[in-house]
Amino acid sequence: MTTVLVLGGTGEARALAAALHDDAPEVTVITSLAGRVARPRLPVGEVRIGGFGGVAGLADWLAAHAVDAVVDATHPFAQRIGVNAAAACPRAGVPLLRLARPGWSARAGDRWHRVSTLAAAAALVPSLGTRAFLTSGRQGLAAFAHDDATFFLVRTVDPPDPADLPAHHALLLDRGPYTRAGEGALIDEHAIDVLVTKDSGGALTAAKLDAARERGLPVVVVERPSRPVGVPEVADVGAAAAWVAAQTTRAGSASTG
Ligand code: NAP
Repeated sequence: MTTVLVLGGTGEARALAAALHDDAPEVTVITSLAGRVARPRLPVGEVRIGGFGGVAGLADWLAAHAVDAVVDATHPFAQRIGVNAAAACPRAGVPLLRLARPGWSARAGDRWHRVSTLAAAAALVPSLGTRAFLTSGRQGLAAFAHDDATFFLVRTVDPPDPADLPAHHALLLDRGPYTRAGEGALIDEHAIDVLVTKDSGGALTAAKLDAARERGLPVVVVERPSRPVGVPEVADVGAAAAWVAAQTTRAGSASTG
């Protein structure tokens, strides 16, 4: 048997666990979740929840659980765990792959303003509109908390810290996937005139971009943070499963050689 740790919290991580479960019975998949969400969507296979305790904690965990390979399938904006994995895996002698969905691309009719940080997004919003649909997540809310001039429709999965909420807001607790019609209805109901999003990529939350394009709304798109260099990367679940299969062969030859 080969043991693979999938650093998860994304649809891609769940899809990879399912693919390995269905097609690679010789692989034991353990998915790791940070524990940020109260009721996470769980993948098939084993699941562990909670931080490892930094680079050293992760390296120790890999050794203690005889992990043969790690796939970092965390969200594009989960920067620290990627850095930790890139340091811990070589230390533990375990190969690492990054599975990252592609970012979104602007299409004809889009009015995107790309910024590199949430703080830059918060600074830009008042020049683009007065009623913002804020979809950048609970952890990024604090950057907008000081903006008393803008109304924010804030959508998060779990309730945010009240201190992070701007003065004028409506809070919507929800989790994708979302539809174009549903996103359009929200935009219209709240008279939204600017959308704020991270460049998360993927199909589950892309409908807001379609709805904004249809209405000619400006969109503030926060670009992805950098990831560690030197980690091989694939963009789809099939390629990640193939990489795992190659590690399985490698682990098998090492144990018989
Ligand atoms: P982060 O800033 O990169 O990580 C902070 C710390 O949380 C890490 O140092 C690690 O703690 C722990 N951690 C993160 N991901 C983990 C995982 N999959 N398993 C075990 N521990 C993990 O991460 P984040 O941005 O807070 O995101 C947390 C999780 O939510 C990630 O798994 C990510 O895939 C998911 N997520 C994030 C976003 C987002 O926008 N950031 C959106 C959707 C889903 P230790 O140092 O103690 O090991």
